[in-house]
Amino acid sequence: MAEPMQIVIGDIVQMRKPHACGGDTWRVVRIGAEIGLRCQTCQRKVLLPRSEFERRVRRFVQRGTATI
Ligand SMILES: [Zn+2]
Repeated sequence: MAEPMQIVIGDIVQMRKPHACGGDTWRVVRIGAEIGLRCQTCQRKVLLPRSEFERRVRRFVQRGTATI
């Protein structure tokens, strides 16, 4: 990617592949070398390396407002 993706806590993202539970929207709950995501359908939490997160995101459904 040409520019680093802007990610903030509270962002709601839609992923290219649905979760095992069938949900495809996730809330960003942690930002670092890995991005923490909570599935909005089953509430399970996963950690993805930032590069993998950027590849998997389809779109931002809603932007969060938190700053770190
Ligand atoms: Zn899920």
